Amino acid sequence: MKRIAVIAGDGIGKEVIPQALMVMQAAGADLALTHFDWGADRYLADKITVPPDGFAALARDFDAILVGAFGDPRVPSNIHAKEILLGMRCKMDLYANVRPVRLLDASLCPLKGVEPKDLDFVVIRENTEGVYGDLGGVFKRGTPDEVAIQEDVNTRKGVERIIRYAFEYCASHRKLDDSNVNGSPRQRVLMCDKSNAMTHAGSLWQRVFKEVAAEYPHQIETQHMYVDALCTQMVRDPRGLDVIVTNNMFGDIITDLAAGLQGGLGMAASGNLRPGHASLGQIGMFEPVHGSAPPIAGKNIANPFGAILTAAMMLAHLGMSGEAQKIEAAVLEAVRQKKTTQDIGGTLGTREAGEWVAERVSHR
Ligand code: ATP
Repeated sequence: MKRIAVIAGDGIGKEVIPQALMVMQAAGADLALTHFDWGADRYLADKITVPPDGFAALARDFDAILVGAFGDPRVPSNIHAKEILLGMRCKMDLYANVRPVRLLDASLCPLKGVEPKDLDFVVIRENTEGVYGDLGGVFKRGTPDEVAIQEDVNTRKGVERIIRYAFEYCASHRKLDDSNVNGSPRQRVLMCDKSNAMTHAGSLWQRVFKEVAAEYPHQIETQHMYVDALCTQMVRDPRGLDVIVTNNMFGDIITDLAAGLQGGLGMAASGNLRPGHASLGQIGMFEPVHGSAPPIAGKNIANPFGAILTAAMMLAHLGMSGEAQKIEAAVLEAVRQKKTTQDIGGTLGTREAGEWVAERVSHR
C-alpha cells in the first residue's frame, strides 16, 4: 500500500484530479489517499498557504504527492500558488522535473507527417535554480533610469546532479513502442543551453556535461544544442530527440512547446523528483503540466488526460508499472476512438472522458 497526498488545488485542478483518482482505483492500485485543501479557497478563508510543518509532514508521511493546479484570479499575484508550488520544489528539494513527451496519436500533433514513433522524448529540467530563484533587485524604480537585475544561479552541485540524473534516466529507461510494453533502450542525452551568449553559466554546464558523460563512455551518446536551435529542431524534425537535460527557464519554455507537439497542455504529464536523496526518502510530486486555467474552470470541459497520465507516471514511479500501463493503454484507446474532451477533437465532458477511461481500465 502506497500513501498518497492529494492536493487538487484550484480551478480545473479540482475537476481533473477526481478523474485521475477514479482511474487509479479502476486500475486496482493499492493506495491510501489523504486529501489536503491547500489552495485559493483556504488561503482566502484563513490566509494560510501552507500550514506550519506542511512540507516536512508531506515528506515524512507520504510516498508521493498528486497535485492538480494552483492559481486563482481572486488571489493577488497568486501568492499562494507560488508558496505552495515553489515551496514544494525548493523546500523538499525536488530538483528534477521530468516531462515525458509522447505522441499518442498522429491526429494530436500539429506537425505534418509525424507519427507516434517519431515523438517519444523526455525533458529533464533543473527545478530549483536558474533565474527562477527570484534573486536580484530593482534600482531607481519608476524612474526613466530604472534598472532591473534578475540573477541566474547555477551551482556546481545543482548542475552536476541534474546532468547525472539525465544520464541515469537514459541508462534505465526505454522508449515506448506502440504496444506500450517493449520499447527500444534510450540512447542519447542532449544538453541544451545558450553558452554562446550566457558564457559563465554555459561554461559550467559544458564542463560538467563532459565530465559526467565520461562516466558512461560506451553506453550513452551525447549531443549539445543551443536552446534556440533546439526549438527549431523540435518543430522541424523531432524524430532524433531522446533525453534532453536543461536549466530551469529553458526547460520551462521547451516543455510548453513540447506539450503543443503532443496535443496541447491538456495532454501533458510531469513528475518532480529528488533522485539520490536516499536518507530523506524518494518522495515525488506529480502534476499535470497545465495550470488552473480560470477561463475554462467549473465548466466540465477541461481535458483530464494530462492528470490521468500524470497519475500513471506516479504509479510507475511507485513500482506499479502494470497499473500504469493499463491506464496509458486506455487513454490511448480513448484518443483513437475520439472519446475525449473538445480540445483534442472529441465531444465528451471532463467527467465523461474520465469515466470512459476508468471503464476501459477496469476491463483490462
Ligand atoms: P496558471 O497561471 O495557473 O498556469 P493559465 O491560465 O495561465 O494558468 P493554463 O492553466 O496552463 O495557464 O492554461 C492556459 C490555457 O490552456 C487555458 O485557458 C485553456 O484554454 C488551455 N488549457 C490548459 N489546460 C487545459 C486542459 N486540461 N484542458 C483543456 N484546455 C486546457
